[in-house]
Amino acid sequence: MALEFQPLFSDDCGGVKPLIIAGPCSAETRSQVLATADGLHKVGVKIFRAGVWKPRTRPGGFEGSGVKALQWLAEVKERYGMLTATEVGTPAQAEAALAAGVDMLWIGARTTCCPFTMQEIADVLKGEDLPVLVKNPSCADLELWIGAIERLHLAGVHRLGAILRGFKTFIHPETAEPPYRNTPFWDEVERFRAEVPGLPMICDPSHIGGARVHLPHLMAEAIRRNYDGLMIESHIDPAHAWTDASQQVTPMQLAGIFRKIGVAQAMPV
Ligand code: PEP
Ligand code: MN
Repeated sequence: MALEFQPLFSDDCGGVKPLIIAGPCSAETRSQVLATADGLHKVGVKIFRAGVWKPRTRPGGFEGSGVKALQWLAEVKERYGMLTATEVGTPAQAEAALAAGVDMLWIGARTTCCPFTMQEIADVLKGEDLPVLVKNPSCADLELWIGAIERLHLAGVHRLGAILRGFKTFIHPETAEPPYRNTPFWDEVERFRAEVPGLPMICDPSHIGGARVHLPHLMAEAIRRNYDGLMIESHIDPAHAWTDASQQVTPMQLAGIFRKIGVAQAMPV
């Protein structure tokens, strides 16, 4: 089915390429959220991400601060004028995020895999005019990715985008080069892009690389391939992050990477 998409943003975030979305993997505490937002605001980031609900592969880890963290995002918006974004993985989470005025939602890799859940979330978002980004499913199935986008589109959500965060694979130890957490399969993803022309493409180098060291070349590759935006995990104190500590960078480190690869949008003030 041929889909038509509307721009993700029509205000001053619109038209800027690459669109930069940055913030911590998880909203841990109010002070961590506000300190990170302060740092990112100072380096010019306009869209703040933070996971309020965290889907953990195994039970027992930090599963997010939940509903109370939505208030912290509202504070970020009020203090810094940044737009806010979070992941929703159930219809109830989508309802709560909408009620709290979150500006942009994303669907996580584990949710894109499940057509039942995707349909339930699409039903909640029916006719809502906010941008929704759909991460690739963790398994390398481009049809599932397209199907999730179609479900949202059929529900009337037309401000859509896709996020490449890499695919989980068993990698042969002798051919694993470089050893990413999730394989980007850049060339195969070009087939996906060709099937949904006009769909904004965002790259998430943090979850592809799984380690800070990979960020610059993954970001540069996404720009070389004309991706529309980047979603990067940034934490005020990465070493002590409660989730994904090895792949997060401070706001100042992020600004340094932007300078190195020639991204002009976010610069120290
Ligand atoms: C995240 O963005 O923090 C996240 C959980 O991502 P993914 O769904 O790509 O694993
Ligand atoms: Mn993460």
